[in-house]
Amino acid sequence: MNNKKSVEEILMKESLNREDVVALLSTDEEDSRIIFAKAAEVKKAFVGNKVYLRGLIEYSNFCSKNCYYCGIRAGNNRYVRYQMTDDEVLEAVKYAYENRFASMVIQSGEKSDRKFIGDIERLLKEIQRLSEGKLHITLSLGEQTKETYKRWFEAGAHRYLLRIEVSNPELYKKLHPNDKHHNYNKRLTSLKTLREVGYQVGTGVMIGLPFQTLDDLADDLIFFRDFDVDMVGMGPYIEHADTPLFRYRNELAPLMERFRLSLKMVAILRIMMKDINIAATTAMQTIDPQGREKALKVGANVIMPNLTPVKYRQNYLLYENKPCIDEEAEDCKNCLDIRIFMAGDEVGYGEWGDSKHFKSRNN
Ligand code: SAH
Ligand code: SF4
Repeated sequence: MNNKKSVEEILMKESLNREDVVALLSTDEEDSRIIFAKAAEVKKAFVGNKVYLRGLIEYSNFCSKNCYYCGIRAGNNRYVRYQMTDDEVLEAVKYAYENRFASMVIQSGEKSDRKFIGDIERLLKEIQRLSEGKLHITLSLGEQTKETYKRWFEAGAHRYLLRIEVSNPELYKKLHPNDKHHNYNKRLTSLKTLREVGYQVGTGVMIGLPFQTLDDLADDLIFFRDFDVDMVGMGPYIEHADTPLFRYRNELAPLMERFRLSLKMVAILRIMMKDINIAATTAMQTIDPQGREKALKVGANVIMPNLTPVKYRQNYLLYENKPCIDEEAEDCKNCLDIRIFMAGDEVGYGEWGDSKHFKSRNN
C-alpha cells in the first residue's frame, strides 16, 4: 500500500514543510492541476484579480560583477555598454505616468561608484517632482552599502528587488566567482539591510539551474517564507552562450520542463504566502509566449512591461531569446491589456498595488 500523502492532503495542511513542497514539485500533470486550482483560489481570496503594472527600465548594462549565468557580466565584451540619459529615463517615466502604470522598476548591472549613486539619486528626485510623488519607484540595482540604500530611499524609492538567486550557499558558490564581491552572506546581509532601511523587499531565484535539485527549490520557497518577504520574482534559468555556465547546457532539464517547474513554484508560493506580490516574469514569456498569462492564472499578480528604449534592448540580454527586443512601449501595452484580460484578470491602472503583506506586516 502506498502511504505517501496525496496532493489534496498536503494542500490541506496549515504549514508546508520541505518534504511536502518537494512532493508538490514532483507532481505529474494531472496532480499539478489540483495545485494550480488551489493557487488560483487563494489568489482570488487574498489579493483579488487585479494585476499591477510596473514599467521596467533597463537603465544600464555596465556591471562590475561576473555571475556565471548572466549575459551582461563584466567579462562579456560582446555587448556595447550603455547608460540611459536622464531624458530617456524621464521620457519612459512620462509614458508610464500618462498610461497610469503608477509604478516603475529601475534595473541595472551592479555599479557602486559615486557617479552612479548620484545619477540614481538625482533621477529619483526628478521622477518624484515630475509625477508629483504619485509614481512609486522600485529599484533593482544589486548590492550596495546601507548609506546608499538610505540615500535612494530618502530620494523617493520605496521598494527594492534583490534576488538571492539560490538560497543554498553551496550552490551559490558554484554559480559565482569565488571572491568577496560574489558572496552569499553579503547578499543575505544586503536583503536584511534593505528591510532595516524600510523598503518593501522583494527577492527571488532562478529555476532549473545546473546542479539545482528539487530539495534546493523547496528550500528556496521556505527561505522566502522564513525571511517574510513582501514580493517575489522568479523564473526559469535560460542559458546564454557567452557565459561560463553554458558548458553545462547538456545537463539541464529541457526548457519546457523548466517552465512547468517555474509555474509550480509560483503556484506553491501563492499557497504558502497568500498576500504577497508575485511577478509573472519575462523569462517565463521567453520560453512560452503565453508564459506570463499562465503565471497569472496560477497565482502571480504583477507584470513588468518593458519601457526601455528599443535601441538598448539587444544589449541588455541577461539570457538568450529575450522577447520584445524590437517592440516599442505602446505595442507592449496594447497586447498586455488583451493578454491580462484573457488570463481572467484586470489591470489595476493608477493603483500602486503595494504588497498587502508589507502593509499587514507593518500594522
Ligand atoms: N544586477 C542586478 C539586477 C540585474 S540582473 C542584480 O543582479 O541583482 C536581474 C536578474 O536577472 C538576476 O537577479 C538574475 O536572477 C536574472 N538573470 C541573470 N541571468 C539570467 C539567466 N541566464 N537566466 C535567467 N535569469 C537570469
Ligand atoms: Fe551583473 Fe546582475 Fe548580471 Fe550578476 S546578475 S552579472 S550582478 S547584471
